[in-house]
Amino acid sequence: MNENLENYFGFNVFNEKVMKDVLSNEIYKELKETIEKGKELDLEVADNVAREMKKWALSKGATHFTHWFQPMTGITAEKHDSFLNFDSEGRVITEFSGKELIKGEPDASSFPSGGLRSTFEARGYTAWDPTSYAFIKDKTLCIPTAFCSFGGEALDKKTPLLRSMDAINKEALRIVKLFNANVSRVIPMVGPEQEYFLIDKEVYKKRKDLLLTNRTLFGAPCPKGQQLDDHYFGIIKPRIQAFMNDLNEALWMLGVPAKTEHNEVAPAQYELAPIYESSNIATDHNQITMEIMKKIAEKHDLVCLLHEKPFALVNGSGKHNNWSLKTDTGINLFSPGKTQLDHLRFSLFVTAVVAAVDKYQDLIRISVATQGNDNRLGANEAPPAIVSIYLGEDLTNALLSLDINTFNNEKKNTLSFGVTSMPTLTKDSSDRNRTSPFAFTGNKFELRMLGSSNSTACPNIMLNSAVASVLKTYADELEKNSSEDAIIKLIKREMNAHKRIIFNGNGYDDEWVKEAEKRGLLNLKTTPDALSYLTNKKNVDMLTSLKVFTETELEARYNIQLENYVECMLIEARTMVEMVNKDYLPVISSYSSTIAANITSKKAVNSKITCEYEEALLETLSMSLKESTELSNKLSEYIEIACKMELKEKANYIKDNFIETMAKLREKIDKAETICPESIWPYPTYEKILFSVI
Ligand code: ADP
Ligand code: MG
Repeated sequence: MNENLENYFGFNVFNEKVMKDVLSNEIYKELKETIEKGKELDLEVADNVAREMKKWALSKGATHFTHWFQPMTGITAEKHDSFLNFDSEGRVITEFSGKELIKGEPDASSFPSGGLRSTFEARGYTAWDPTSYAFIKDKTLCIPTAFCSFGGEALDKKTPLLRSMDAINKEALRIVKLFNANVSRVIPMVGPEQEYFLIDKEVYKKRKDLLLTNRTLFGAPCPKGQQLDDHYFGIIKPRIQAFMNDLNEALWMLGVPAKTEHNEVAPAQYELAPIYESSNIATDHNQITMEIMKKIAEKHDLVCLLHEKPFALVNGSGKHNNWSLKTDTGINLFSPGKTQLDHLRFSLFVTAVVAAVDKYQDLIRISVATQGNDNRLGANEAPPAIVSIYLGEDLTNALLSLDINTFNNEKKNTLSFGVTSMPTLTKDSSDRNRTSPFAFTGNKFELRMLGSSNSTACPNIMLNSAVASVLKTYADELEKNSSEDAIIKLIKREMNAHKRIIFNGNGYDDEWVKEAEKRGLLNLKTTPDALSYLTNKKNVDMLTSLKVFTETELEARYNIQLENYVECMLIEARTMVEMVNKDYLPVISSYSSTIAANITSKKAVNSKITCEYEEALLETLSMSLKESTELSNKLSEYIEIACKMELKEKANYIKDNFIETMAKLREKIDKAETICPESIWPYPTYEKILFSVI
């Protein structure tokens, strides 16, 4: 790519600039009304837009179009149709109508619906989300869409996200208007930092566990891991840099604002962070990023792993969801601002987040609950499964002891209030507590509990909704009396009521687990534990009253997430049994025979020769064979029993029985790995996987 970055950024995107260029003034204005104010698009306008979109796409070499959506699988879905058609005289024409642009009817019977849609009424429909630009990917014009059942229930992750953005816009606006009358919209902004591993493709192909489960189920530790901290921010290897260059270019062409790239803590681990955008666009762009990462890696004979815990004993991969609220006039509502009034508004919004996260800590935890992430949360590298907020001592104390007198005594336009001065809150000087699951970092909150493959839609749906629901109660109260005194009273009352959720210490410390229990905070270690809270009355009431979910949609989501947990666990357990029975045990057994034969042949030469080494080894290997066989048989039995159970019972049975047995089985095999020659071992070692890209 020889052109300047300015010229090719968004080259394959039907963005603002393209719309202005190719649409008539009138049509452009109508479309803008739809994008900005949610006005319904009439079919004539849609026809017009579709015609120009098609022309533009054809001029860029596209041959197909697709509605691009995010079903409950957590990844994106697409079904391509070519623009090709024939006219009445059999001549080839290209066609793309307004109707095709705004609505699609994919046969969607194989997507998870959690019981929302029985297979005989399989068709769902997709509806254009004009707030997210169409783009061309691999010769296909992709139209971002929401995916619903014919009854109107959301079958995807975008629909509730858009609904939650509406909810927080509505309630935050009521509060902001008490301070800034000219604001007309509040938008949740998100910048997701994406961690990932890159490993050599040839090595990857030899690992059945990576192929089937995206993580290693076995593998003895490699002498070198991340002890030396020499990978984090280290010099990027040329082969990796070549990948990153291609990745950036592909993302920029698609309008994804990739910004920061660096080596991460674990060997073979990296990170990419984009410039933040509205939570809807950031979510679409994060999905594109994950997809393109995998594709570009392939071109470089690498494989990109997005699993949250692909390797034991080195860090797993997370995704940090940086989140803030921005007004259409450009105010960041989590920025302390300059005037006393700014400080008060800031304090009120931070308080609302504290209250929301305390009240709905279960929903925040659920929003990142996947079987993969269960391997990471609380594993001494990622924040614990306990949800808490880090504000820093200064801000915590300031909000808890906010006082109308000290507040009013401060000179206007200074950067201090109450007992604490605001400059200590600036990002650079704030103690950036890396162990907190949800940290205030100067002018935004950073939710660090997401696993690297999680869709950012889920946590943002819950964050937006929880905060909206709290803001609603504040607005109801303050619209009656919005004096500074009333606002300060509310902040102090709310902070004191919810301060148990604030934890400024080390989240990785065992003491915190005990302390959190004393405070009555939840510690939901596994996905089934967390999910059991989803349909509690408190949560259903909140989410349905804001119209983010219906009760049926929530029940469906509960089923889908639990089903996903169960299936992932079953796949892992079956893969383990297969690897053990077909590969590890035969290899250990035949190596034992070799050792036994060695002993016999040595003794045949001279019966006095000692074979201590061989005999001890043979004994260890035989014990390992015995124990591994027992554990593998036990796991097979558990699988059989689980498969006869109903979903909820099955999930709990799996959680209570599989996890421990799988860990024990792994321990036995990994131990055998350390005493068998690498040349006979059936799978590449951790050393080969983590250090073969040079
Ligand atoms: P870190 O040091 O944690 O990597 P960065 O400043 O690099 O922090 O920011 C990380 C991510 O946060 C980036 O994606 C960035 O765009 C995003 N971000 C920065 N400011 C905001 C904000 N106000 N709202 C949401 N995201 C933000
Ligand atoms: Mg960060």
